[in-house]
Parts: sequence; structure tokens; C-alpha cells
Amino acid sequence: MRPYAATEIDTWDLTADVVIAGYGVAGASAAVEAARTGAEVLVLERAGGWGGAAALAGGFVYLGGGTGLQRACGFDDTPEAMAAFLVAAMGPGADPEKITAYSEGSVAHFDWLVGCGVPFRPVFYGEPAWEPAADEGLMYSGGENAHPFDEIAAPAPRGHLPRMENKRTGERGGGYMLMKPLVETAGRLGVKARYGVRLDGLVTERDGTVCGVVARGFGERVTVRARRGVVLATGSFTYNEAMLAAHAPLLVGRPGSAVEEHDGVGVRLAQALGAGVAHMDACEVALHMDPQYLIRGIVVNGRGQRFINEDTYPGRIGQAALFQQANQTFLVLDEEGFEEARRVSAAPEVLQLRPAWVCGTATELAAETGLPPGALEATLDVYNRHAEQGRDPLLRKAARWLRPLRGPLGAVDLRGMTSGFALGGLTTGLDGEVLHVDGEPIPGLYAAGRATAGIAAWGYASGASLGDGSFFGRRAGHAVALRR
Ligand SMILES: Cc1cc2nc3c(=O)[nH]c(=O)nc-3n(C[C@H](O)[C@H](O)[C@H](O)COP(=O)(O)OP(=O)(O)OC[C@H]3O[C@@H](n4cnc5c(N)ncnc54)[C@H](O)[C@@H]3O)c2cc1C
Repeated sequence: MRPYAATEIDTWDLTADVVIAGYGVAGASAAVEAARTGAEVLVLERAGGWGGAAALAGGFVYLGGGTGLQRACGFDDTPEAMAAFLVAAMGPGADPEKITAYSEGSVAHFDWLVGCGVPFRPVFYGEPAWEPAADEGLMYSGGENAHPFDEIAAPAPRGHLPRMENKRTGERGGGYMLMKPLVETAGRLGVKARYGVRLDGLVTERDGTVCGVVARGFGERVTVRARRGVVLATGSFTYNEAMLAAHAPLLVGRPGSAVEEHDGVGVRLAQALGAGVAHMDACEVALHMDPQYLIRGIVVNGRGQRFINEDTYPGRIGQAALFQQANQTFLVLDEEGFEEARRVSAAPEVLQLRPAWVCGTATELAAETGLPPGALEATLDVYNRHAEQGRDPLLRKAARWLRPLRGPLGAVDLRGMTSGFALGGLTTGLDGEVLHVDGEPIPGLYAAGRATAGIAAWGYASGASLGDGSFFGRRAGHAVALRR
């Protein structure tokens, strides 16, 4: 992990102005912008091809403030409303400066993506879902239109999805159609890529400036000189068990929503140079189910009590379940709710739900699921009494989704359904410059994507990763290319 001194390197095998480690969304965005700014760019990618987690992703890019896609779908939005939402939803601890820059630059970033050839179909998808049923381009992806955010900022859908024909959730998603045009644009701009080459170390001048990297390709050591600087775009530490255990232990043993190459190497190499880190305990958490079911029922904890409005962003329910309810949660739904969800659901079979227990009464169901006697009954009594009047004074689920739950009840065991990825990483400035623990930039070192702490801290919205990875990756590419 410790840096190599430039004096230790006898010969440089490769040289470029800008050396980027990782060819996922942050690396590709940095590559395009560095090349456009006039730099000779070399990308080192550990895997056999470009893409990273980004190419497997559903493809949400969190953008707003009045993008062309929002306007084409008939939605008004402002950078101020977007920033107000993000500050409330990404925190506590979200970086207000990054959020302001991101929100103010969002319309231009959307245009930049379109200019790189990323296609978006101007159709809004308004159903509760993790992703649209087909190739619709715009969706609410962070609970903007649910309590409490609908009162904090004017709601607008900001989940922008690249168009993927014949899309199949979990198999072929919009992330590929984000990555392909970006990498093709980079190629047209003369960006060179080396695959099967893994960043192993950073090289520094006597004054601490990062001037190259040591990598490993097919068993051989490769030394690469970077005339202007190095960009770390190697992803998160989700697949580093030791780092998870140290920083985000609740993710240990859960499936990681990332690729195995996310081993935290970029974070550790920069830490060895004195870089600061932030929000290392923060995680995105997914609940593997169609929200059409969640929204029609009540989600209760191990004490049989509701703890969140079920019409919010399902990732927020996942975070609350894992971090605040010890992952002891159940979905309770009546027959009408199950049948309706199944009828309207456009999600694949793997996200469809079946109850683990079905009982004639709440008392029997509580006994079957092991909930304390009387608790679920009391919860249902309060919920149903208010639902009859179209209200949810406890947690403010929208009236549209309120209906007393009656007759035979089923409970879905949500305990094994969470997975996620780490959100924490290097502290960076607005141009991707990696900041030393003293707050000053480490000369020649830049980073973007999930190797960094981005706009999301404790909270999350779908699209925040591809969004901040591409946005700050692009800024990092521009800034490093201007270094002399
Ligand atoms: C199934 C799934 C769905 C998702 N859906 C969404 C979504 O809809 N919206 C959203 O915002 N996010 C989504 N995410 C998360 C998102 O894909 C990632 O957080 C995002 O890709 C991170 O960007 P990145 O550039 O940091 O990492 P990546 O895109 O993964 O790129 C990192 C690259 O670095 C390479 N690398 C790693 N180590 C080295 C090394 N030592 N040397 C050289 N190269 C290295 C990796 O191989 C990889 O290609 C999803 C993730 C998954 C798995």
C-alpha cells in the first residue's frame, strides 16, 4: 500500500498525461473530459473489459433542476428544489457544497451525457417499482413525492434511465447503455485502455506529488508515468471483508450490489498518502422485492410496530430496516393487497412475493411470526382505524395507498432480503482532487465514483452513484488535464 518513490522506478513502461485506474462510470467520464481538455489519456482496467458495476446497473442517473428529459415529460424542477431534497435525503452528513455544485450543474450534465450519445426515452413511469417496466426514461427514484420530502422540496422525478431496448430487470439494464456510449466517445477522442492491468501502487515525487502508478498485468509489473496526474476510479470497498468489518460491519455476509473488483484498493492507496475518508459506515441497501407489495401493506419490526411510510423509496426502507431495526422486519398484507400487487406488478418473478405465513387473524399471525402478543394487533388496529378515514397520522403514507387490511393476513419475512454497497470513501474537492487529512489537495491525485464519499452520506436515492460518479468523474478529468 505504501507509495513508491519516483527514484525507485528505473524505467517507465508506459507514459500518458493522465492515467485513470478503473473503466467504470467514473473512469469513463474522467477519460472523456480529460481527452476533450487536450490530454493524452490512458485507462488501466483490472477486468477483461470496460464497464465495472456501472454496466450491470439498472442505470438510474440522479439528475434534475429542469433537464431536457424532465421538461419533455412535463415536469418542472429547479436546482434549488433538487438541492433541498438531496440535503434532506442524503444525510445526515451529506456534503452541502457537493450537493449545490451537483444540483446547479445537473442540467448541463444531462446535456453532456446526451452529447456523448447516451439515449433517454422521454416517457415517465409513475408506478411504484425499483425500475420502470420497460425502457421508460424518467421515474421518482428517491421518495421525493412521499413524506417527509414532499413537504421539504417541490417533488420532481429525477431518476433518469438510459434507454435499453429489450430491457430485463436484473439481466439487461440501462447501465450498459450509459457505459457503451461513454466508452465509445472516449475511444473516438483517442483514449487508450489496457485491460487485465491492475493498479497496485502509487508513485510519488520527493515533494509528495503523485506522478505515476505501479500496476500488474498478466503477472508482470507495469510502471506507468502520469505527466499531469492520476485519477482513482476503482469503485467501493464492498468486496473487502476486512474494510467492511472495520467500517460498515452490517454489510458483512450480505450480497454486495457491486462487482468483486470493488476491493477498496483506491481508498487504501490514497490513505497511505494521508488522504482523508468520510462516511465509511454509510451503505446503500436494497430490499429484493417489488415495491408494489410493500406499498399495499404495512412493514413492521420485530416488536410488531411500523417504523416507516411504506410508500417511500424502497432503498430507504431497506436502510431503516437494516440499520435501525436490526434487520428484523416483516411485511403484513391482506389477500386483496397480495392479489392486486401480483396483478399490477411488472417486476420479474424473482421480485414477486409470497407470504411465509398466512393466518385468519392478526393474533394467529403474530404467534406464527414470533411477534410479541398484542403488538401486531395494536398496530393493525391503529393503522386500519385511520386508513378508513384516508389518513396515516403516524407515518404519513399517502392517502392513495391507505386501505384497512382485513380478513386472512399474510406475512413476508424480509429478514434475508437486504443487500447493498458501501457509500464511503476518499474525501475529495469539487474537482475530484483527493484531500489530505489536513484538508489540502494531494498534488497529482484525483478520484471519483464509489472510491470517494460522494453526494450520499447516510441516505440514498437510486441514481446517486452513477450520477455523482459521472458528474465528479467528468470534473476530475477536466481538472487533471489542466494540471501542468
Ligand atoms: C445490480 C446493480 C444495480 C445498480 N443500479 C444502480 C443505479 O441504477 N444507479 C446508480 O446510481 N447506481 C447503481 N448501482 C451502483 C453503481 O453501479 C456503482 O456504485 C457505480 O458503478 C460506481 O461507479 P465507479 O466508477 O466508482 O465503479 P465501477 O463502475 O464499478 O467502476 C470501477 C472499475 O474499476 C475497476 N477496478 C477495480 N480495481 C481496480 C484496480 N486495482 N486496477 C484497475 N481497475 C480496477 C473495476 O474492475 C471497474 O471496472 C448498481 C449496482 C449494481 C451492482
